[in-house]
Parts: sequence; structure tokens; C-alpha cells
Amino acid sequence: MAKRMLKFIETAQRTPAKRDAESRRQDFDEIYGAYAPDMAAEQAGRCSQCGIPFCQIHCPVSNNIPDWLKLTAEGRLEEAYALSSATNNLPEICGRICPQDRLCEGNCVIEKGFDSVTIGSVEKYITDTAFEMGLVKPPVPRQERDQSVGIIGGGPAGLAAAEQLRRKGYQVHVYDRYDRIGGLLVYGIPNFKLDKWIVARRVDLLTEGKITFHCNFEVGRDASLPDLQKRHDAIFIATGVYKARDISLPGAGLDGVHQALDYLIASNRKGLGDDVPLFDNGTLNAKDKNVVVVGGGDTAMDCVRTAARQGAKSVKCLYRRDRKNMPGSEREVRHAEEEGVEFIWLSAPEAFLGGDAVSSVRAIRMHLGDADATGRQTPQPISDSNFSMDADIVIKALGFDPEEIPTLFDTPELEVSRWGTIKIDFRTMMTNLDGVFAGGDIARGASLVVWGIRDGRDGAENIDAYLRAKEAGESWPDRKLAAAS
Ligand code: FAD
Ligand code: SF4
Ligand code: SF4
Repeated sequence: MAKRMLKFIETAQRTPAKRDAESRRQDFDEIYGAYAPDMAAEQAGRCSQCGIPFCQIHCPVSNNIPDWLKLTAEGRLEEAYALSSATNNLPEICGRICPQDRLCEGNCVIEKGFDSVTIGSVEKYITDTAFEMGLVKPPVPRQERDQSVGIIGGGPAGLAAAEQLRRKGYQVHVYDRYDRIGGLLVYGIPNFKLDKWIVARRVDLLTEGKITFHCNFEVGRDASLPDLQKRHDAIFIATGVYKARDISLPGAGLDGVHQALDYLIASNRKGLGDDVPLFDNGTLNAKDKNVVVVGGGDTAMDCVRTAARQGAKSVKCLYRRDRKNMPGSEREVRHAEEEGVEFIWLSAPEAFLGGDAVSSVRAIRMHLGDADATGRQTPQPISDSNFSMDADIVIKALGFDPEEIPTLFDTPELEVSRWGTIKIDFRTMMTNLDGVFAGGDIARGASLVVWGIRDGRDGAENIDAYLRAKEAGESWPDRKLAAAS
């Protein structure tokens, strides 16, 4: 093994420089800087090159982490980039926003007492540097193919599928109802986690590779699914999940009570320089206001941290379970606390109070009771434990469900699960409709960017196998399954 590795004993874990909380609150810029080459090499060199790398096992795209860490430690950036980009279409994005504490880094088995290797930061360094060196190229196929694929949705799942299919030579068209491509990467996730030019840089590259993007094109309004089936040889549905879960509490209809995504989209659009009347007139702007966010997932974390940056008077996060049982990343909670957010654990709202507009929230304390069928303890209210807090804005961040896709797409025969996600054959990712595939959040439920990428890549492999079989006049999936057996 190269002498450069196994340095975790003598070298402490160091992330790229993190901006102090006060300066972070003044703008929406990313909070971490970049590694200098020697620091990236030093940190990559802390890896002990495990025979069975648990980091890789817990990475949804099975990144070959130990090998690209070793190449980085040796300063062989070009090779590290080649290896890292072979399994991930958006490594610079995953390096920034994967919840590494629950995935690769949380499973890094460096000896107890030593902090994990900073895998995400090194992944980000490799690709950002590769971009600077001009190593990141548009997808150019060796040979063009006549068959075309229509992809509905330009989020991470759609983008990964588009790039993989283009590399195989297909004519790829991506349809998205928004005016910009990127899905939640652009309109959900705030700038301080992922700068928007990083997403645009990828989209430019794919456009250069002759993927055709149709923005402001809503399937269900501008075309039905059967219309697109006539235009293309196969379809990949990657529309994400956007129906906000709600709570029907007294006062839920008061002015000032908003859905999380409306609030985040307004903030992201403002950052992109768009005209946003509901932000400018103060409706979706937290400046000088008392803000209460309800929920404990990634979306809630993004809302509280956005409110802190908009200059809110106070920001509170109300979550019915405790810190240990929250779905959001622990790292994000720490960032939010540093930025002045107050977490009120084991508490749930009972009513939103006020005249026309909300002015306070009445909440109740909870305790964790018996475990449910999933093994998770159910929160139970503690009687006579009510309390109130001032609130000029309440943001509901309770998660998302799928929209009614069969109705929207004018395809009632498209099968969905009882949760409303599109049903797919888990081996082939094909829906019950011939040549129509699906992946990302719309097939698996609200998830993560890196799982969307994984689905896009797997979807592309399956669509390729399907189209080759179709061209050869063979049936599918029998052909694929026969080849695999
Ligand atoms: P999306 O990203 O939702 O993209 C779907 C696209 O389909 C959208 O562009 C939409 O406009 C388009 N579309 C929908 N319907 C139609 C239609 N009828 N016609 C045409 N186009 C349509 N994950 C992480 O890994 N890390 C994070 O830090 C993180 N933070 C998050 C913060 C927030 C606020 C939210 C809401 C989610 C976050 N996630 C995070 C989850 C992650 O963003 C999603 O899991 C991921 O984006 C799903 O990818 P997707 O491609 O399936 O869908
Ligand atoms: Fe870790 Fe995500 Fe990168 Fe995989 S893609 S190595 S989980 S940061
Ligand atoms: Fe290296 Fe940690 Fe992965 Fe082991 S688990 S190969 S030490 S990064």
C-alpha cells in the first residue's frame, strides 16, 4: 500500500474551511470553502483502504471510494475523476448535499475514536477541480442511434437518465414544467447548500451534448402521456413528488401560514434574480418576523436556515419527536443551531391563532410512546402541557406525496401503489405500460438526490436493453433476464 494512505492516526479530520455563523446569516452563499490540493491529498490519505469498504456499500451509487481516495492522495486527479464520474453523474452535487453522516461517512470504519474520512468533501474537490482543468466533457456518443427517449422531469433522476442514454447514442428529449432544469436542485434546495450555477454548469454540458430540453412544458397541460408515447420509442417518468402533506388544525387557513415549497421556491427565485411579487410584498419573506417551522426533515432545516438569512426576528422549529429520532440530517441541525435557530423538540402544534393573519402558535408537549409496526416510537401528547409562541409566519414542512399522475397524464390505466407512487417492476423499472419506465421520487417516494441518480442510471440501462430488444424484434424483459441467468 502506498505510504500516503492510512494516515488517520497522525492526521486529524479536517473539513474545508467553514464560514462563521454570523457571516453565513448575511448571505446565501455556500457555507464551506474548497480544499486546497495538499489538504485534499492529506485528508484522502486518512483512508485505511478497507478490504470490505462499508463506505462504498452504503453509497447508493456504489462509488469506488477507496480507489479514488488513494488516487487523490497520490495527486492523480485525472484518474480520480475518471473513476468517480464512472459511477455518478453529479458527483460535485452529491459531495455537497448527500447526508454523508447517514451514508458513506457514517459507515466509514476508521478505528473507533478517530473521525471518518471526509468522503463528500473529497468527492466535491475532485469534480470541481476536474471542471477547472477542463476534464469534464459533454456526453458524446460513439455512434448515433435513431431511437428517441422522452424523459418527463429534469431533476436528478431525469438528468442522470438523460446523460446515460445520450452516451449510448439515443436522441434524448427532457420535458419539464419549470422554466429552469434541475428540479429540486434548483427550486427546493437553497443556495447555501448548493449554489445554482453548479446545476446550470451541468445542464449546459448536457445541452452541449445535444440533449434537448423543453422547459415550461407540462405533461398533462401541453401534452398527454399517450402523445409523448407517439413521439418517442420509450419514456422515463421522473416527475418527483410535490403534493405537500398538510395538517388540518384550527387556523390553518390564516394569512401567514404557508407550505414549505412555496416559501423555498420564492427565496430561490429571488436569489436567481426573478421577479417575485409575493416575496417583495413581504408575504413569503421572513425579514423582521417571528417564524415557526413545523417539521423535522431536510425541508424544515432548509426553511429555518433560509429564514435566518432573510433576517427573521426569531426562528423556531417545532418537531414532535426528539433530536435522535428526527428524519433530517444531524449535521444540518448543528448548522441551524449555529445560525441562531431554536429547536423545540417533542412538541406539536395544536392551533394557529390570530385575526386575519396568524400571530401565534399554540403547541403541546409530546412524549415517545410505544413503537408502531415500523418499530418507530409514536409521539403522544402530554395532557395540560400547552404553551404558545409568537408567530408572524408559520411554515408547514411535513413532507410530500405524489400528485395524481394517471389523471394528470390522461392515462388512467397507469398503475400506482397505494401511496400514489408509480408502480414499477423492480427488476426492469418498467411500469405496466409497454416502454414506459419510471424512477426517482415518483417511484420510490420522497427520497434523496443520490437515489434519484441511481434510479436514472438503472432506468437508462433498462431502457437501452428494451430498445435493443425492440430493434431486434425480440420480446423483453425475457431477453434481459435470459442473458442474466
Ligand atoms: P425532482 O428533483 O423533484 O424533479 C422532478 C422534476 O419533474 C421537476 O423539475 C418538476 O418540475 C418536473 N415535473 C413534475 N411534474 C411534471 C409534469 N407534469 N410535466 C413536466 N415536468 C414535470 N436530497 C438530498 O440528497 N440532499 C438534500 O440536502 C436534500 N434537500 C432537500 C430539500 C428540500 C426542500 C426538498 C423538497 C428535498 C430535498 N432533498 C434532498 C430530496 C431531493 O431533492 C429529491 O429526492 C430529489 O430531487 C428527487 O429527484 P427527482 O429527479 O426524482 O425529482
Ligand atoms: Fe457519499 Fe453521496 Fe458521494 Fe456516495 S454519492 S460517496 S453517499 S457523498
Ligand atoms: Fe476508507 Fe473509511 Fe471507506 Fe474504509 S470505510 S475504505 S477507511 S473511507
